[in-house]
Amino acid sequence: MVLPSVVEPCDFTVFGGTGDLALRKLLPALYLRDRDGQLPEGFRVIGVSRAEADDEAYRVMVRDALTQHVRPQDLDEDVVGRLLGRLHHVTLDIEEIGDWHLLHARLKEGAPGEDVIRVFYLAVAPALFGAICQHLDEVGLVTERSRVVLEKPVGSDLASARAINEAVGRVFDESSIFRIDHYLGKESVQNLLVTRFANTFLEPLWNSRWVDHVQITAAETIGVGERGAYYDRSGALRDMVQNHLLQLLCLVAMEPPTYVDRETVRDEKLKVLQALRPMTPELVDRDVVAGQYGVGLCDGSPARAYVDEVDGPSDTETFVALRTEVQNWRWAGVPFYLRTGKRMPERVSEIVVVFKEPPHAMFPHSEGPTEPNRLHIRVQPDEGMQLHMTAKEPGPGGIRLRPVSLDLSYEGAFGTRSPDAYERLLMDVVRGNTTLFMRRDEVEAAWTWVAPILDHWSRPTHRPRRYPAGTDGPAAATTLIERDGRSWQETA
Ligand code: NAP
Repeated sequence: MVLPSVVEPCDFTVFGGTGDLALRKLLPALYLRDRDGQLPEGFRVIGVSRAEADDEAYRVMVRDALTQHVRPQDLDEDVVGRLLGRLHHVTLDIEEIGDWHLLHARLKEGAPGEDVIRVFYLAVAPALFGAICQHLDEVGLVTERSRVVLEKPVGSDLASARAINEAVGRVFDESSIFRIDHYLGKESVQNLLVTRFANTFLEPLWNSRWVDHVQITAAETIGVGERGAYYDRSGALRDMVQNHLLQLLCLVAMEPPTYVDRETVRDEKLKVLQALRPMTPELVDRDVVAGQYGVGLCDGSPARAYVDEVDGPSDTETFVALRTEVQNWRWAGVPFYLRTGKRMPERVSEIVVVFKEPPHAMFPHSEGPTEPNRLHIRVQPDEGMQLHMTAKEPGPGGIRLRPVSLDLSYEGAFGTRSPDAYERLLMDVVRGNTTLFMRRDEVEAAWTWVAPILDHWSRPTHRPRRYPAGTDGPAAATTLIERDGRSWQETA
């Protein structure tokens, strides 16, 4: 196995360092990078929050989080000690300019050098992004080698996304802005690009001549839990479709860039977003389904209705299914079906490319079903790919056809776990590689595309359709695809 290269020393500041995202994802990811020897001496992590915690108290909090969120077999007491030694906490209210000298002092004190890389990771509400950048600038913490990471969501609509991008862009150059979509850091998602563009067998088939349709699903079994207040203002369209699902669609549909670098890949993704068939009110009514879970059974336990979890009436959608098309030469007429939901029967994110039937049925007297070829790209869990094809069942006495699948599970094939997306993405930030991050124009193009859906759903008469928790969503989602003579694929 190739060992990951050591990154440069860095002051990695996490605004929201005591929050759920930092403790559950970011610090465990940094721990695992440290364990693999990727963090050099002089790599510091500074958590920022309003909590009255000194370095020691913060280290206790992070040790606890690592115990909870890193697999026991990956925990090494020496590495835990080393990571905790890198940690500091600064108590600061982002909105109090008077507090900012504390961060300034901490970053100056004991810094490995004046030109040290500074990462500012904004794991706080997007409403604070503008203020953070402005204050960083005012206290003189932004240098040529500073980078800012914006957690999703970048805005809640086109206007707010533009406002955030403007505010951040006043301080940071676009090449130093990392808008994170953790789906892009997943091994299987990057392998999709490699499978398409580093092999010859798929690309000639990857078009409207041979592909019947594409399905992209991101299903969760959990409800909104503690995130009800945030989620109720967001909903599945903003939380999942505008970013994760459209990004996956872009990677499936994009043209091969001349070579893979930070701008060419993003240029090609942008072209896909711009080629999506624009939504009109009629198309929204016909091709987009909103749902909201009611009571039901999930993972074998009774599940509450969404409205009970958020404690009140709500028309926020927890499920979206939609049909769209990419209006260009390659994909003309090929439907792309997207769906995402909470409280579904299974947690799975998957892309399925369904190919057309063979042009001629050569085995008319054979027994057994024929099915079109399908390529399943499993994004999570158990990242990998499966190619479903038809084979002859072994044995004498005629030809019996049987569907079989060729499996490529990463863990099975490479004997190693896939690193968490954040592990790769955080190191890309330190290295200054923006390839797997969303550029401003991409984010705004995605908001532009979803805007007519949001508009149409803002009418007072709009209501999401109810579905019982633990099911595949409202019946209208099944009708959406079945009226085209197709059906949702069982996940691989
Ligand atoms: P959270 O658990 O509520 O944490 C928020 C963090 O921000 C806390 O550390 C909080 O600490 C700090 N904070 C809030 N206001 C502050 C202020 N005025 N000054 C300084 N610190 C302040 O939220 P989260 O779940 O970690 O999410 C953070 C952001 O990431 C949100 O925008 C969320 O949408 C996004 N996100 C989260 C996840 C996830 O899995 N959690 C996934 C994707 C995106 P104090 O209250 O002590 O100040």
